[in-house]
Amino acid sequence: MTDTDRSPLEAMGAEPDLQSALLQHLAAQESIDPTVQSLLARALTERAQNGGRNYAEGDEDADRVARRRRAMRTLRDRFEEMEDELDELRDRNDTLAAALGACAQCWGEDPGCELCAGGGGPGSYPPDPQLFDQLVRPGLRRLHATRRSQSDLPQPPEPTTGRSTQ
Ligand SMILES: [Zn+2]
Repeated sequence: MTDTDRSPLEAMGAEPDLQSALLQHLAAQESIDPTVQSLLARALTERAQNGGRNYAEGDEDADRVARRRRAMRTLRDRFEEMEDELDELRDRNDTLAAALGACAQCWGEDPGCELCAGGGGPGSYPPDPQLFDQLVRPGLRRLHATRRSQSDLPQPPEPTTGRSTQ
């Protein structure tokens, strides 16, 4: 089998930088019917223009590529949103842990924690006074107010002894 016996169809899988050489080679093939020769030449040219694929495949691939690009863009957007949300939640976690004097990494729940070895529950460290005033005190005030107002409500009568002597 000589080089000239090699089917141009076999050659169509070749790299794009070989395509012009293939076209020249194809033009020199006297044994191939001129119609077939021109069809093959056109197919090769179209493949070159389509990045090495024929038209049908090119269209299908273009759709697939467009869909994949859209999916990738959606994923990237979602990923960025999640990163932003995670950053925000981490900030809030660190702030609240500082306000409560807790380990921001594990809140005292992980014996393997490199920061506190599991001993960093709320109150394990001096709370940040400013953050405590800002984040904890309002809740405490509300809690005390709620308890006071509840104790002001008429209490259900004690079933046995009265409460007069306390
Ligand atoms: Zn910890």
